[in-house]
Amino acid sequence: MSNVPITVAHGDGIGPEIMAATLHILKEAGARIDIEEIEIGEKVYLSGNTAGIAPESWDSLRRTKVFLKAPITTPQGGGFKSLNVTVRKTLGMYANIRPCVSYHPFIETKHPVMDVVIVRENEEDTYAGIEYRQSDMVEQCLKLITRPGCEKIVRYAFEYARKNNRKTVTVFVKDNIMKQTDGLFHRVFDEIGAEYPDIQKGDWIVDIGAAKLATSPQDFDVIVMPNLYGDILSDVTAQMTGSVGLAGSANIGENISMFEAIHGSAPRRAGQNVANPSGLFLGAVMMLVHIGQPDVAELTHNAWLKTIEDGVHTYDIAREGTTKQTVGTKEFGEEVVKRLGQKPATLKAVEYKKDEGLSEERKPIYSIREPQKKDLVGVDVFVNWWNGNFYGAANELGPIVEQANGNGLKLVMISNRGTKVYPKGQPDTFCVDHWRCRFMAENQGETITHQQVIDLLGRVAGAGLDFIKTEHLYNFDGEPGYSLGQGQ
Ligand code: NAD
Repeated sequence: MSNVPITVAHGDGIGPEIMAATLHILKEAGARIDIEEIEIGEKVYLSGNTAGIAPESWDSLRRTKVFLKAPITTPQGGGFKSLNVTVRKTLGMYANIRPCVSYHPFIETKHPVMDVVIVRENEEDTYAGIEYRQSDMVEQCLKLITRPGCEKIVRYAFEYARKNNRKTVTVFVKDNIMKQTDGLFHRVFDEIGAEYPDIQKGDWIVDIGAAKLATSPQDFDVIVMPNLYGDILSDVTAQMTGSVGLAGSANIGENISMFEAIHGSAPRRAGQNVANPSGLFLGAVMMLVHIGQPDVAELTHNAWLKTIEDGVHTYDIAREGTTKQTVGTKEFGEEVVKRLGQKPATLKAVEYKKDEGLSEERKPIYSIREPQKKDLVGVDVFVNWWNGNFYGAANELGPIVEQANGNGLKLVMISNRGTKVYPKGQPDTFCVDHWRCRFMAENQGETITHQQVIDLLGRVAGAGLDFIKTEHLYNFDGEPGYSLGQGQ
């Protein structure tokens, strides 16, 4: 069988040490890989490349399509872009998979029974990084959730569950508040979930779901969530197993995938041969399954479990009572190699089968739909206006905005931070200098034109108002595609 080319980056801080230990285990276990090395991280950043990755390194990633990456240090201060986010988004790595497992009684944890896999959406949500300062008082971040993005991640979660003999997929969202963005994620979960009758489904509002996960992780199996919730909760879940140093992760794309530890470069521990290589190693195990070497994945993972079970631990998980020998990074790798061919006695041994990838009928992993009929029915004009009062100012602003009524459009509502304040607002509502003025057709239910919007903006400016942005109000197949103001 020919070797599989992979791209490797040794990273910063503890990166080179944990990578050396990981590659030592892979090599001794007979992993059939050819390594192409690339330089990423601090050195590249400081040489003046603000992306942290050289242009020729992208060629290696495109060629091998598999990236085993050690953590890197993002220099502090302005101008440096997170390399992780750049690589994930540029190469379309839409799914971030983080298995979080307890190794009780060999590693101390408050949660002895825990085997949870977080499937985090990796490209969208507030991580689009589209932010604006809109007024003296207000900053804005756009939360973007797309239908193809939801379809890709939800499909991946169900396929993952099926391939890995998992019983349940649960979705965490906040769709009681974000009815459109998180609502879409939840709807797609229900739609695609219906295609997997063999898998049980669950859904939680993310706040109470997170509380349940933190106290009863044994009740969860695979959990799929949008980017931000997944980012936060996968770190919490990994830490609950005993150490952030223990969890690996896979970033899966349609063409290119990346495997890494979930932790960072721990600069304070660098060069001391103390860091735990397990996170990166377990990332590499996922890589082995991905490149069709489940035999090597199984061999190395079981040897690792046996090492943990034998009480051979790095400092971060070493505890009196469970640890028999505290070892350094390099020695830990050597201890795993000594156990190649052995299986754990108490912990459950792993079994891997070949990952066949998505079946042909599952491709593409997102649907291409007929666009719905889209009617422009109004426009929200955001204005920056301030009369020095946090309370009651809307009654002064309202009549000024109403001067812009005309040409078939009229003001129906002003809201402040989402709450309706005009007409008939409550005097107790706290208001800042950022107002949403909703104009709709004078004759209810009529559509409007772009020209009417352009004319309206002219009248808003004519009334002396600083308009800072507009959002069009559309109906899609007759259904409103915009939220109402609270209290509207
Ligand atoms: P960190 O994960 O590096 O360290 C957090 C804590 O966990 C530290 O106390 C550290 O000593 C400990 N720790 C982490 N990994 C360990 C291991 N393998 N063995 C033993 N202990 C371990 O997070 P941080 O300190 O917030 O960030 C340090 C740097 O890493 C920053 O520059 C950050 O940008 C970067 N970072 C990189 C990645 C990545 O490349 N994927 C991810 C997160 C942070």
